[in-house]
Amino acid sequence: MASVEPVPGGEFAGLVAVVTGGASGIGLATARFLAARGAQVACLDRNPPEVPAPLLGVTADVTDDAAVRAAIETVVARLGGIDILVNNAGIGAVGTVEENTDEQWHEVLDVNVVGIARVSRAALPHLRRSRHAAIVNTASICSHTGLPQRVLYSASKGAVQALTLAMAADHVTEGIRVCCVNPGTADTPWVRRLLAAVDDPDAQLATLQSRQPNGRLVSADEVAAAIGYLASPLAGATTGTVLAVDGGSHAVRLPPPADIRR
Ligand code: NAD
Repeated sequence: MASVEPVPGGEFAGLVAVVTGGASGIGLATARFLAARGAQVACLDRNPPEVPAPLLGVTADVTDDAAVRAAIETVVARLGGIDILVNNAGIGAVGTVEENTDEQWHEVLDVNVVGIARVSRAALPHLRRSRHAAIVNTASICSHTGLPQRVLYSASKGAVQALTLAMAADHVTEGIRVCCVNPGTADTPWVRRLLAAVDDPDAQLATLQSRQPNGRLVSADEVAAAIGYLASPLAGATTGTVLAVDGGSHAVRLPPPADIRR
């Protein structure tokens, strides 16, 4: 059990973390968060990750089992083990159930769901050797809330939340904790790419902001801090936890202005 006394070098000192999708957005913010608190961090990404020192960039596509296994062995050889795995790599899809092709279904599920299985099973033998083993998966608000034009993406993230709970059950007696975060719309390069593709990005941004009760997008750093909490030795009794980071969207309904004082 961890003490709440400050740890010299940071609460992650002496620990090694792997963050998939660690070259951008929430993954890069998480890698920086963990490194700033003492962890050695490897960013595993399909784009040759040019990540800032002291982060270690490792190239692997989570849809390629051999590449994933090689990447995990590279991390262990370079950094000495694995204590924390953040399964964050993900891709999106837009459309109703009539619109996505079989190829799109296979591609998105392969990255967002099977990718987590590939990286987790390669890392588990190493996590079993850790005294502070934790896996944190990045799901989404659409794991539990219907959003228009997001059938395939939602199916993938609902699966991430469900597999998180099942993994938590499988590994709790081994001392490996498994949790996930459900971010609302977060201000990352992904969302900026989507905005750049529409006719009126400012109006679309305003719509996305107003969809969240706190009236703004979530920041990548805020999601990183939530992942950091779940990954921390300080959260040693926390497993099977689904943590919303969504400006209140999962729980808060604002009444129309006229109703506020009634
Ligand atoms: P991003 O596009 O900025 O970063 C995603 C990273 O994942 C990229 O570096 C990309 O190269 C990598 N990646 C994608 N496919 C990969 C693969 N097959 N193998 C290895 N790496 C791969 O996106 P982001 O917004 O930071 O999203 C990160 C995670 O957060 C995703 O799982 C996404 O579904 C989830 N999420 C994002 C939001 C949001 O609004 N941005 C909201 C909820 C959940």
